Amino acid sequence: MSKKYLYKFHEGDKEMKSLLGGKGANLAEMTKIGLPVPPGVIISTQACKDYYRDGQKLPEGLKDQILEHIAYLESVTGKGFGDSKNPLLVSVRSGAAVSMPGMMDTILNLGLNDETVKGLARITNDERFAFDCYRRFITMYSDVVMGIEHVAFESILRTYKKKLEIEHDHELTPDDLKMIIQEFKSMLRIKHGSEFPQDPKEQLINAVEAVFKSWQNSRAILYRKLHKIPDSLGTAVNIQSMVFGNMGVKSGTGVAFTRNPSTGVKELYGEYLVNAQGEDVVAGIRTPQPIEKLKEEMPDAYKQFIDTSKLLEKHYKDMQDIEFTIENSKLYILQTRNGKKTAAAAIRIAVDLVREGLITKEEAVGRIDITQLDQLLHPTIDITTNYEVIARGLPASPGAAVGEIVFDADEAESMGKEGINVILVRNETTPDDLNGIVGAQGILTSRGGMTSHAAVVARGMGKPCVCGCDELDIDMEREKLRIGNKIFSRGDIITIDGSTGNVIEGEVPLLVPTLSKEFQTILEWADEIRTLGVRANADNPEDAAKAREFGAKGIGLCRTEHMFMGPERLPIVQKMILSSNDDERKAALEKLLPIQQEDFYGILKAMQGYPVTIRLLDPPLHEFLPNREELIEEIVKLRCLGGSEEELREKEALFAKVKALSESNPMLGHRGCRLGITFPEIYATQVEAVFRAAVQLAKEGVKTVPEIEIPLVMDVNELSTLKEVVDQVAVSVFAEEGVSVEYTVGTMIEVPRACATAGEIAQIADFFSFGTNDLTQTCFGFSRDDAEGKFLHSYLEKKIINENPFVVLDRAGVGRLMEMAVTKGRASREDLLIGICGEHGGDPSSIEYCYQIGLDFVSCSPYRVPVARLAAAQAALRHSN
Ligand code: PEP
Ligand code: MG
Repeated sequence: MSKKYLYKFHEGDKEMKSLLGGKGANLAEMTKIGLPVPPGVIISTQACKDYYRDGQKLPEGLKDQILEHIAYLESVTGKGFGDSKNPLLVSVRSGAAVSMPGMMDTILNLGLNDETVKGLARITNDERFAFDCYRRFITMYSDVVMGIEHVAFESILRTYKKKLEIEHDHELTPDDLKMIIQEFKSMLRIKHGSEFPQDPKEQLINAVEAVFKSWQNSRAILYRKLHKIPDSLGTAVNIQSMVFGNMGVKSGTGVAFTRNPSTGVKELYGEYLVNAQGEDVVAGIRTPQPIEKLKEEMPDAYKQFIDTSKLLEKHYKDMQDIEFTIENSKLYILQTRNGKKTAAAAIRIAVDLVREGLITKEEAVGRIDITQLDQLLHPTIDITTNYEVIARGLPASPGAAVGEIVFDADEAESMGKEGINVILVRNETTPDDLNGIVGAQGILTSRGGMTSHAAVVARGMGKPCVCGCDELDIDMEREKLRIGNKIFSRGDIITIDGSTGNVIEGEVPLLVPTLSKEFQTILEWADEIRTLGVRANADNPEDAAKAREFGAKGIGLCRTEHMFMGPERLPIVQKMILSSNDDERKAALEKLLPIQQEDFYGILKAMQGYPVTIRLLDPPLHEFLPNREELIEEIVKLRCLGGSEEELREKEALFAKVKALSESNPMLGHRGCRLGITFPEIYATQVEAVFRAAVQLAKEGVKTVPEIEIPLVMDVNELSTLKEVVDQVAVSVFAEEGVSVEYTVGTMIEVPRACATAGEIAQIADFFSFGTNDLTQTCFGFSRDDAEGKFLHSYLEKKIINENPFVVLDRAGVGRLMEMAVTKGRASREDLLIGICGEHGGDPSSIEYCYQIGLDFVSCSPYRVPVARLAAAQAALRHSN
C-alpha cells in the first residue's frame, strides 16, 4: 500500500503546518471549526519530498490518490470535473510550512477546456467572464506547466488590442476573447509542439508536478537562503474548488475586518462588490459598497457573515481580516487571519478582548507589538497623505515636526517664544545652541551621528531630530539650504521625521499623540506583571515630571553637564575652566552652586520620594569652551583687520587654553571620574548643591532619595577617593544645616575593566548602573560617531554584525561583560542595586536581556518609559518558568 499523501480539509488542523503547509493547515482549521470554506484537499509536503527523493518522479500511488480525491470533490460540490454542463473548477496552489509569498506557482480555474468554458458561460450567464477565465487559465498553465513565458501571450494580447484600438482588457468582447484564445493555441502549437491539454485530469496531474518543481525555482531557492528556511521542507499543494462571486446579483465578493483596524472600535469594517470576482475589488474599477449595505441586499448572507465573524474571533481570539465570496446567496470564507492594525487599535482591541473574557491580561500585554508604540508617543506623519522625501539622514530622535527653516539658534528661540513653529537647521549643534533647540519643533543637522550633541539633547527633550543628513548643503551666511537642485531659504516650510530620518518639502499633516485610557490600562497590567523596575533619564524638573506622568518610578540617570550650559551658566563655567588658581576656580564654582541647587531641588521634588541617581560631571572640559576653528578665525580677523588689543589678548589666552585642553581621543581622555580626581572641587560643588537641595526639601517635609553616581570608574581606588569627597561634603552640609538626609554612592559601569574588577568595586559601591553607550564603545573599540558615520553600515550590510550595537545591546560581547559584573558585584555584596542607563535601557530586546541577567531596573528617556514598562512585562511573560 502506498503512503497517505492526500488529506481532505476536514482531516487536518492548524497544528499540522509541517505536513500540510501553512495555507493548507489554516484552511483545514477553518473547515474544522465549521466555517463555510469551499471544499478542497491537500497534497502533503511528504509527497514533494518523495518526488525529489525519487529523482523528480511522482511517488507511487500519488496519481491514484489525486483522482480519488477529485471524485470526493465532485461528490461534495455536486459538480463534475470536465462536465460541460456543471463543471468543477479548482485552484492549485503551493503552500510551504513557512510562508514564502509569491515565490512558487499557482494556477486558477483549472478544469477549463473548449467544452467546460461554454458550461461556465451558461452557469454564470456571462460569456465574457467565462472566456476571460479560459484565456487567463491558458496563460497561467502554459507558463507554469509548459514553460512558455507569459510575455509571449501578453504580446498577442497587446497586438490585438492595438488592432482594435482599445486600451483595457475589460473592453474585449467575448468574440475578441475567442479569437485571442485561438491565437494563443496556435502559438503554443508552434512553440511547444503540442496542443493545449483538454483533459482536466491531465491538466491537474501536470499542475501538481509543476508546483513541486517550483519549490526549486531560483527565486524560491534565494528566498529560502535569505530567510534561512531549510530546502528539505518541501511544499504542500492545495486543490480547492473555485467559487464565483460573479454569478449575478445574489453573488459578490469582499474583505472585512471584525473590528475597526484604525481605532479598534468593535464594528464590522469592510466592503464588498455585488456580482464581482476577487480581483475586481482590488482593481478599483467599480466602487465597493460598505459591508452594512449587505444587510439590505443579501440579508441571509449578511447574517451568515455576522455569525461567522463572531465564531472566528472567538476561535482565533483576535480581530480577523476575512476574505469572502458569496455564490448564489451562499457565503464562503476564503481566508482569515489576524488583521493588521494601528497601535491604537491593537491596544484597544487587546483591552476589549480581556473585558469580553476572550483573553487574559497576560495575553493582552504579551501581544502588543512594542515596535509600533512610537506611533502613540510622538506626533507622526499622516501616511495617508502624499508627500515627497527630498533627503534622508539618521533617525536620531523619534517623532515628526513641521516648521519654518531657521538657521540661527537665537532666532529659533525668539520665534518659538512667539509661537511660530520652526525647524532649526545646522551643520551641527553645540551647547551654545541649546536655547534654539528648546525653541524649535525639530532639529535637522548635516553632520554628526546618533550621539551627536543635537541627537542626545533632542532625545532627552523628546523632540524630533534628523542628523547626519549629508545631502544638506548649508550656506549659513546667506541663510540658504540646498538639497540636490532645490534651494530653500529661511522661512520655507519643511517637515522632518525623526523616526525614519526623512526630510520632506512643505507641510505634511501630523497625527498628535495621546495616552488613551486603554493604553493606561495596558500599562497598569504590565506593571502588575513585571518585576524589573523602570526609571527615566531626566536632567530637569520638566522631564522629571514627564517621566512621572509616563509612570517612571525614579530617575536612573540625571546627567549634570546640562547644568553647566545655557547662556547664564556657560560664561561662569568658562571662567572656572580658565581660572589660573584655586581661588578663582572656587569663586566661579560658588556662583554655580545656588543655580545647581535650584535644579536639584526641582528634580528631587518632582520625583516625590522616588530615587534619583545624580551623575557627577562626565564630559571633558574643552566641550564647554568655544570651537577651536572659530577662535582661530576670530584671532586672524582681529590681527589682520585691527581690533582692540585687549580683545585680541583675551582670545589668544582662550585659544591657548582650548589647545591645552584639546585631546587626541576625547572619548578615552580626561573625562568622567578622572576629571573628579584632578579637580575634586567640581564634584564637591555638585554634591554640595545636591545635599543642600535635599536638606531644604527635608525641612519642607518632602522625602528624597539622592544616589550620587561616579562616572567612568575602572578601579575601586577611584571610587574610594571620590566617595571620601562626597562623604566629607555630606558631613559638613548636614552639620551646618542641622538636618541629615540618607544618600548612597555608586558607580557607572561603562568600561571593561570595571566589569572585570566589579567584585572589588562593589565592596564600596551601593549601586552599579551600566552605561552601555560607553561600555559598547570601549568593548568594541569603536567610537560611536565614527562608527555610525563611516563603517558601521558596511558591517551591517556585509552581515559581519547583525544589529547596530549602539541601538540593540550586543549580548555576545557587552552582555557577557555585564553578566560578569553582575555576578562578581553580587558575590561581594548581595543587596547591590544594579540598573542600566545607556540608551539600551529603552530598547525592548535589550530590556529583555537585562531582565534575564537579573538587573533591578532599566532607565531610559521619559518618552520611552511606556515602551520599557511593556517590554519589561513581556520579558517576564516570556521567561517566567
Ligand atoms: C553611557 O555611557 O551609557 C551613559 C549613560 O553615559 P553617557 O551617554 O552620558 O556617556
Ligand atoms: Mg557614559
